[in-house]
Amino acid sequence: MPDQKSYINTDMCLGCGTCEDTCSTSAITVEDQKAKVSIEVCIGCGACVDVCISGAISLVPEDQYPQK
Ligand code: SF4
Ligand code: SF4
Repeated sequence: MPDQKSYINTDMCLGCGTCEDTCSTSAITVEDQKAKVSIEVCIGCGACVDVCISGAISLVPEDQYPQK
C-alpha cells in the first residue's frame, strides 16, 4: 500500500487557513488565499480532510499524486 498524501483542489480552496492550523506536521501553508501541501512533510493522517469547510482536500495514494 502506498502512502496517502493530502491533495488540495485549489479551485475549491477558500483560503480560510483551518487546514494549516490543524496539520500537526505543518505540511500546509496558505499563500495568496490558497492552501498548499508539502507532500514530503505530509504523513497522510487525514486531519485536514476532516476540517476543510469546502471539501477541497482529499487523500491520494502517493503513486497517483497529480503532478504539477
Ligand atoms: S493529511 Fe495530516 S499531515 Fe498531511 S497535510 Fe493533512 S493534516 Fe497535515
Ligand atoms: S481548510 Fe480547505 S478551504 Fe480552508 S484553507 Fe484549507 S483547503 Fe482551503
